[in-house]
Amino acid sequence: MNVLVINCGSSSLKYQLINTDDESVLAKGLVERIGIEGSLLKHEKTGLDKLVIEEPLKNHKDAINLVLKTLLDEKYGAVKSLDEIDAVGHRVVHGGEKFASSVLIDDEVIEAMKECIGLAPLHNPPNIIGIEACKELLPDVPMVGVFDTAFHQTMPPVSFIYPLPYDLYEELKIRRYGFHGTSHKYVSERLAQITGKSLEGTKIVTCHLGNGASLTAVKDGKSFDTSMGMTPLEGLVMGTRCGDIDPAIVTFLMMKQGMTAEEVDNLMNKKSGVLGISGVSNDFRDIEAEADKGNKKAELALDKFAYSVKKYIGAYAAAMGGLDYLVFTAGLGENSAPARKQICEGLEFLGVEIDEEKNKIRGKEAEISKDGSKVRVFVIPTNEELMIARDTKELTCK
Ligand code: ADP
Repeated sequence: MNVLVINCGSSSLKYQLINTDDESVLAKGLVERIGIEGSLLKHEKTGLDKLVIEEPLKNHKDAINLVLKTLLDEKYGAVKSLDEIDAVGHRVVHGGEKFASSVLIDDEVIEAMKECIGLAPLHNPPNIIGIEACKELLPDVPMVGVFDTAFHQTMPPVSFIYPLPYDLYEELKIRRYGFHGTSHKYVSERLAQITGKSLEGTKIVTCHLGNGASLTAVKDGKSFDTSMGMTPLEGLVMGTRCGDIDPAIVTFLMMKQGMTAEEVDNLMNKKSGVLGISGVSNDFRDIEAEADKGNKKAELALDKFAYSVKKYIGAYAAAMGGLDYLVFTAGLGENSAPARKQICEGLEFLGVEIDEEKNKIRGKEAEISKDGSKVRVFVIPTNEELMIARDTKELTCK
């Protein structure tokens, strides 16, 4: 069957049309600047040059309309009729406590998703707009919602509760939810396939290191703890997000600098992380290049990032009572040998020993630990779209 995977952001939309029989990508693309001047669609069909269409798109419905038109294009398209799209899988950022797995979307589910908006005011509204637009344009095609938070719903209370008054959890649902769940789940399952071993009885730390970054302690194949929290701001030092800081800094900035809540939020989400420390960029490639030229702040940013990942690996090994596998994924985790090396250095006491030659790998599945390393270390490129397509197939084929 053919599944259209949709990932709607506030002004962007990523899509892939996947044939789930052989899991091949028939076509994929990205719509940018939705609702802003200069909207454009970049479309790729295997074996052909990239197609770029510039066209005013006032909303997500216009964007999805253009995607569907392009998928039907004689040269660049992948289907002859919209009837060949059997189902649509939507990425949804926050499923709160309501969704512990993917779901077939109906009106009741859309209502429940709307109730989660308060927990993810920036992310959930565009996801829901995308769902509603697809419902209008493809009214007879079944749709599935796949949540970034769902994989982490197995976390025990000791991992998810914050040491705040318990009422805040009961009344406002303030707790750790965790994100990147689809990615952490994908790489754990892929690890089981690669090693040929069941995940039962194993202790894995999966490191999703992209512009947003999170680590998950995966015990017996289930999320046991994860570094992102109620929002994706907590945890590791990231591209532009600060991750863990003393929460009193927030009130300090508001009282001493007269900053508003919105300004502090913006500072922590958009101006911090490795961008904030280095003053160079949020892209690790630029920071690595600057550090090589002797820029001390760039070097400090990279050191702080690697240090934060290392500390979480140690914490999760302690939390699970051991560590069998370490997995690196996402932009930085898949591509940066220096970052992986720096993170693993000093973890020999846990049994982590990487092989410098094997670690030179980029963007491919590979084991990068030395033969005989107690903890086996892998690079596994993530594939959230495939995971969404698989769940969509499973829920719509019943
Ligand atoms: P997101 O989906 O969160 O935007 P990605 O998983 O696509 O992030 O990762 C993007 C990040 O990966 C970039 O910001 C860049 O810092 C990092 N990255 C990608 N390739 C490399 C590389 N070769 N060396 C170092 N960093 C890289």
